[in-house]
Amino acid sequence: MARQLIDGFGRVHRDLRISVTDRCNFRCQYCMPEEGMQWTPRSEILTFEEIERIARIMVERYGVDGIRLTGGEPLVRARLPLLVEKLADLGVDLAMTTNGVSLPLVAEELKKAGLRRVNISLDSLQRDRFLELTRRDDLDRVLEGVDAALAAGFDPVKVNVVVMKGINDDEVLDFAEWGREKGVIVRFIEFMPLDADHIWNNSLVFTQAEILETLQSAYDLESVARTSAPATRWRYADGEGEIGVVATVSESFCDTCDRVRITADGQFRSCLFATDETDVRALLRNGSSDDVVAEALEFTVAAKWAGHQINQVHFIRPRRSMSEIGG
Ligand code: SAM
Ligand code: SF4
Repeated sequence: MARQLIDGFGRVHRDLRISVTDRCNFRCQYCMPEEGMQWTPRSEILTFEEIERIARIMVERYGVDGIRLTGGEPLVRARLPLLVEKLADLGVDLAMTTNGVSLPLVAEELKKAGLRRVNISLDSLQRDRFLELTRRDDLDRVLEGVDAALAAGFDPVKVNVVVMKGINDDEVLDFAEWGREKGVIVRFIEFMPLDADHIWNNSLVFTQAEILETLQSAYDLESVARTSAPATRWRYADGEGEIGVVATVSESFCDTCDRVRITADGQFRSCLFATDETDVRALLRNGSSDDVVAEALEFTVAAKWAGHQINQVHFIRPRRSMSEIGG
């Protein structure tokens, strides 16, 4: 039997998230600072060849079967479809999380290159609020991006909505209705303590229970069996689609987590909230063999903790913010 990326709690890791850049053309309040973000120098960012090598090791040695490209904003990385083509050749379920603003230009090319699924981040359907949250006046372009993803044949198209109490929680039902009309799956995400400006506090988290209560005031929902994916899912009883919540803060799902991450600068992380990383880039660049790289990946996963400690006194925020880790 193939080896597995397995930790001390028996969790097998098959889902790899690759950040291809820490740069972004947005400055979402819950993620990046408005100004002063220091981009990683180009020479420290993994090349496509290096990314492909790590991915190949994980797929061929450890049966990783899902890869998601993220960032920063993955579509600001030049010639991304070339990387998509290479990774698609590995035969994995290849997905991307994007702010959607460039999708009108590249959705079709990405689909042809072998990308299978796309998640688009969109936190308000109101122009002024979208501008305030992302610090870009691009709601229309992102909505065009959603249409472009659907037209290119991505199925399903998911829309990620970070819900913050008192900021956009009044749009939960608007998003539900919009998602049903558009034929996209809306995924509400609880606000996590990974924002660069450190505005997060527990009172800003609009919890899964609150989201569900809001949805149930308007719709009959039926629970959908949970997979290793992070979302708790429901389908509308009238058959018109599905909706989900990623409840990282209020209902952590660490015990079924199967994700590992590689940052744009080649640091391997066994948890979104990990406070330490393994420098895989150094191994890739010092002539280490695949066996040595693989061993480092195995050790990192073997030492993974039970789960994050958000809401507990000993929680330590990771040094990096969400845009530097990749979500
Ligand atoms: N730029 C791309 C995008 O926005 O989709 C990909 C990178 S972004 C860091 C990945 C996901 O993390 C997005 O869905 C975004 O909404 C989410 N995110 C960023 N900061 C967050 C936070 N503090 N809490 C919860 N989700 C967050
Ligand atoms: Fe950029 Fe995505 Fe972070 Fe927004 S959430 S600032 S689009 S990386």
